Amino acid sequence: MADGVYSEVDVVVVGAGFGGMYMLHRLRGLGMTAKVFEAGSGVGGTWFWNRYPGARVDIQSLEYSFSFDEKLEREWRWSERYAPQAELLDYANHVADRYDLRRDIQLDTRVNAAHFDETANRWTVTTDRGDTVSARHVVMATGCLSIPQAPKFPGLESFKGKWYHTGQWPHEKVDFTGDKPGCALLRFLGRLEPFKADIGTGEVDRLLTLAALGFGNWRSGRHVFTHSLNSSSALEC
Ligand SMILES: Cc1cc2nc3c(=O)[nH]c(=O)nc-3n(C[C@H](O)[C@H](O)[C@H](O)COP(=O)(O)OP(=O)(O)OC[C@H]3O[C@@H](n4cnc5c(N)ncnc54)[C@H](O)[C@@H]3O)c2cc1C
Repeated sequence: MADGVYSEVDVVVVGAGFGGMYMLHRLRGLGMTAKVFEAGSGVGGTWFWNRYPGARVDIQSLEYSFSFDEKLEREWRWSERYAPQAELLDYANHVADRYDLRRDIQLDTRVNAAHFDETANRWTVTTDRGDTVSARHVVMATGCLSIPQAPKFPGLESFKGKWYHTGQWPHEKVDFTGDKPGCALLRFLGRLEPFKADIGTGEVDRLLTLAALGFGNWRSGRHVFTHSLNSSSALEC
């Protein structure tokens, strides 16, 4: 569908993460027409956005796989028990190709409104690229963790150093040379070998202890900040 074209489908699905892709596959199986809109420039949702070093599943890869098709399960080989992000993204792309999902997925498109007309019994869905789609159903496969939450640390607005959000990690390699991590997620620490001396064994122990107590819960602690050694301001956590 070209931008701005008005069209009709049975179902509009918002989001092309694992949930949205599976939904599209199921809807096709039910003989329904569907259109998926995805804000990102690729499929995979969580694994498209969260590219930070050390990102990987915390349940076993086999359990994280789709189980709707035995053939798919048999043909895909995970290289590690807890797969890294790049492999999960490969898997998402493999599924999209294997089931020819892409022809109904429009990337780089954010749904910005969905209005229900009770008389017509239909939704009108609009996007930031000017699409207008009429649908009988709308499925919000937007995930529960797809909106990055920047912490409200005092001084963040005026912080002069570089800072990164794991959920919006740059696609290109990040060079930490000359930087010193101020606060890091545990999963991340393992990938910051060069900084272990800077962080110090005591700090690593402190973070491990906090994590064990539940303080370092990955859902609330998905942030890493770095500050330049030359920077006059620094964030504490
Ligand atoms: C860092 C991280 C690690 C995780 N690790 C695990 C794990 O190990 N095991 C586990 O079971 N779960 C894990 N999760 C949970 C994970 O979110 C789910 O497992 C699963 O990937 C969610 O899939 P989803 O399709 O529901 O949502 P998502 O993967 O979040 O996909 C939602 C998609 O919707 C898109 N979207 C949102 N709003 C709009 C809009 N208005 N218009 C268009 N597109 C939109 C987003 O861009 C996104 O691509 C993790 C989550 C995170 C963030």
